[in-house]
Amino acid sequence: MRCLVTGAAGFIGSHLVERLLMEGHEVCGIDAFTDCYPRQIKERNIEALSAFSRFDFIEGDLLRLPLVSLLDGVDWVFHLAAQAGVRRGWGNEFVRYVDANVLATQRLLEAAVRAGNVRRFICASSSAVYGEAARLPVDELTPLRPVSPYGVTKVATEQLCMLYHRTYGLPIVILRYFTVYGPRQRPDMAFYRFCCALINQQPALVYGDGLQTRDVTYVEDVVEANLLAASVPAAVGTVLNIAGGVQVSIREVLDLLEEISGSRLAVKFLDEQRGEAHDTFADISRAGHILGYSPRVGLREGLRRELEYVVSYAYSLTPRFYPDWPLDYGFRPGAGEEKQ
Ligand code: NAD
Repeated sequence: MRCLVTGAAGFIGSHLVERLLMEGHEVCGIDAFTDCYPRQIKERNIEALSAFSRFDFIEGDLLRLPLVSLLDGVDWVFHLAAQAGVRRGWGNEFVRYVDANVLATQRLLEAAVRAGNVRRFICASSSAVYGEAARLPVDELTPLRPVSPYGVTKVATEQLCMLYHRTYGLPIVILRYFTVYGPRQRPDMAFYRFCCALINQQPALVYGDGLQTRDVTYVEDVVEANLLAASVPAAVGTVLNIAGGVQVSIREVLDLLEEISGSRLAVKFLDEQRGEAHDTFADISRAGHILGYSPRVGLREGLRRELEYVVSYAYSLTPRFYPDWPLDYGFRPGAGEEKQ
């Protein structure tokens, strides 16, 4: 199949592109290298993919690219480009979320309708649409009450997709991901920051008391869900939770990291942040019935692979990356070298 992946240089997008190429598909990846985290990280995410002649990469913004012509001949669209993150998006930052998540999606949907050849349009949504759910685990019929501006824009993304499905018959599938982790995780996300803290022998910074819980999903399982959503006919027109199916507290994650690494990890508790739900936990039975989705990678193994990745990344860094590297994105200069 010919596939178009938006957000191809991002955390999940780069894994999806890799898997599509491994399966023999032709892929056009689009990414604007937005400055939500350092460009070098995204470039590295897709470094190995240039070896595939079936991979084209286009650097550009969905708000400006000639999307109708880019969609010519495309069978499957995987729309992952977004401004992610629940903690930001208040005040003046909201416009970034509206541009990347609402306007860019609407432009892509219009182009897909006009191109006329798209056989499946899979859109990445988020557990953030539920906010603080009254009952757990949440199924897809639970009322949407986001607690973050990001969640609000993801509700709008979903609604736009379903509108184009109803009005133009665009074959949409919406996947609501629950906290995705694994190698190349975004540097603003908790597991990545905890791994960095471990390497730097600094305290892990935890918002709140650490008793908040998350349903966490290993990135390969999310990729698998995308492939199933593209190929299973019954998926068209559905909204599906994609999660790991296990609820874990942040304290449990920290304990597990200590166990896996064999190192002590000090913890510093900070004030809770606006925008975060206290608990998330998904009912994934619908994705099970419709897609045959079932998460395969457990937390211990997934966390081990993420830590291994972060360690190898820390060791591979050269000083030229450091000058504009905000501290909360990772490593203290030289920390890797000290440990060798
Ligand atoms: P990411 O930030 O690593 O990747 C998103 C990519 O989209 C970035 O590389 C960015 O440069 C690109 N992008 C943003 N706006 C663009 C635009 N207008 N044009 C072109 N490219 C643009 O994020 P991620 O964690 O890989 O998330 C991928 C998708 O999954 C997003 O839609 C996100 O909302 C969703 N999601 C992620 C998680 C998670 O835990 N990581 C959870 C729920 C949902």
